[in-house]
Amino acid sequence: MTHQQEAPWTCSVCGACAARWSTDPLPIEFREGTYYASGFTYEHCDACGESLVAAADIDRVQFAAVEAARADLGWLTSDDIHAMRHELGLRQSDLERQLGVGTGTVGRWERGTALQSRMADNFMRLLWAHPELCVDAGLIVREGRGPYRKRD
Ligand SMILES: [Zn+2]
Repeated sequence: MTHQQEAPWTCSVCGACAARWSTDPLPIEFREGTYYASGFTYEHCDACGESLVAAADIDRVQFAAVEAARADLGWLTSDDIHAMRHELGLRQSDLERQLGVGTGTVGRWERGTALQSRMADNFMRLLWAHPELCVDAGLIVREGRGPYRKRD
């Protein structure tokens, strides 16, 4: 938030003198559609259409849009994912291995800075509703504890 000048000012993306502050809901695109983060002030260019969010706001903007998407899609929230993981006794890295997602992914879902895929959402719901799958199907890899089969 360093601009002090009157709008419009020069857009740092296209160079047109068409940049201004906006508080309109900010559209964020996901595979499942476009969802909006509300309540933020950001720079918007009326010439090129670019929106520039302050670095300090990026995670909060992403979180707001992720929460809007989850509410609309009926998917697990950050709190849900965290609660499920603790009920199943899994570390973030355990769940990442089971889902086949990269290191840090579950942390991003729990912080709400990334939206889980439909497949991951379905699979997490299945495990949460049927914790016996963790043992019976040998689905869950846990190293060094419990009667869980280790995947080779
Ligand atoms: Zn521009």
